[in-house]
Amino acid sequence: MGLYRKTIAEIHGLLKKGEVTSKDVTASVLKRIDELDDRVHAYVTVTRDMAMASADAADRRILSGDFPLLCGIPIAIKDNMCINGIRTTCSSRILENFIPPYESTVTSRFLEQGYVLTGKTNLDEFAMGSSTENSAFFTTRNPWDLERIPGGSSGGSAAAVAGDECIAALGSDTGGSIRQPAALCGVVGLKPTYGRVSRYGLVAFASSLDQIGPITKDVRDSAILMNVISGHDPMDSTSAPVTAPDFTAVLGMEIKGMRIGIPKEYFIEGMDKDVDVSVREAIKRLESLGAVPVEVTLPHTGYAIATYYILATSEASSNLARYDGVKYGFREAGKDLLEMYMNTRARGFGAEVKRRIMLGTYALSSGYYEAYYKKAQQVRTLIKRDFDEAFKSVDVIVTPTAPTAAFRLGEKTEDPLQMYLSDIFTISVNLAGVPGISIPCGFTSNNLPIGLQLIGKHFDEETILKAAYAYEQSTDWHERKPKI
Ligand code: GLN
Repeated sequence: MGLYRKTIAEIHGLLKKGEVTSKDVTASVLKRIDELDDRVHAYVTVTRDMAMASADAADRRILSGDFPLLCGIPIAIKDNMCINGIRTTCSSRILENFIPPYESTVTSRFLEQGYVLTGKTNLDEFAMGSSTENSAFFTTRNPWDLERIPGGSSGGSAAAVAGDECIAALGSDTGGSIRQPAALCGVVGLKPTYGRVSRYGLVAFASSLDQIGPITKDVRDSAILMNVISGHDPMDSTSAPVTAPDFTAVLGMEIKGMRIGIPKEYFIEGMDKDVDVSVREAIKRLESLGAVPVEVTLPHTGYAIATYYILATSEASSNLARYDGVKYGFREAGKDLLEMYMNTRARGFGAEVKRRIMLGTYALSSGYYEAYYKKAQQVRTLIKRDFDEAFKSVDVIVTPTAPTAAFRLGEKTEDPLQMYLSDIFTISVNLAGVPGISIPCGFTSNNLPIGLQLIGKHFDEETILKAAYAYEQSTDWHERKPKI
């Protein structure tokens, strides 16, 4: 079996025994990228030379015998996290040549451990989308079916993990962008509690919702990455001063007696039949492991998408004001300053980003602010209270991650509302600020992966990881690989 197929935990074990070197592993992953990526298009930038140099450095550290878990492990980073000296594009023309002069907190923690960066992965422009079709550069393909989208916005990271073009990856999730592509690509994706992971160096889309998290081949690797990226960071004022536990400690613990909430609003008309069947079977499986199902209600679910698209666009319109042709390189000349701004933004942003800036500017403008933005904030509180209420009687909430499996390229591009509905099960989690994980739970009749979402209480990633691991250990979905 190729080394590129392995998990972080497996490679760490091999490195420890001296059976392989980081250079072997890195070369294997780079070769895999060469073989696949002209079909999958997961990467915007492959940092080949740097990867081999980092592997070499890691091997010297490994010789000393004592080295951290990520030392020598090839990892891909979504291209909206800043890495000092490496182009960070957000898959946008406006940042096409932006080379950040600083390092995000998450990647600086990886650097301390001696990780190997394989490159930066594709996304929907500024993380706005559910398919990577909004990337200004190209669309990433789903390794399970190259005619289908990998989900989004972290589609590049999810496809890279599913195709074994890296050992693990980081994504970001504002309304589902880690969990939905993880589900559609058959891998594990975790969105931590808001404030659990520092956003320093993450290019802002909607700051009150954005959160960085791991996309991995299995649940153990998810916990391993959580251990490194979690915890307070003085560089991010919204990072919570909460000490992170050892997330791997709960793996293998029993889930007997765990109360799992099944929200009736999440099993709806329009959901794909195969998804419905697989998720119900997964719930039965959890029951057979000792979990106790409890019906719960999240009554404001129906307002989540509307609320999200007011709040996220409002925050985006404000965050994206900084791309003016002056601060970030890309500039389209004009006869005066105002025309230069307008030309730059007209040429630099794609259609979806412009649509959102306009929606958000409208929602924040005087006269409409009370009717839209303020109202949406109030509904957000109601949605959060729904979760608080439900969590009084259950430990986790179980839902499908997405209403369908991967759709065909172009299938939803003409109708933004259809595209927005892809996140119907993930968006409330961001609005409430709670953590959620997506794990593989089956396949459709045409062999496309299906994801199960486990939602936890604030700062209780441990319980969802524990349940996810117990489920994963009793199935082999995560071991199946696309034939590519
Ligand atoms: N698909 C959602 C959107 O388009 C969520 C994206 C995300 O989580 N970054 O906004």
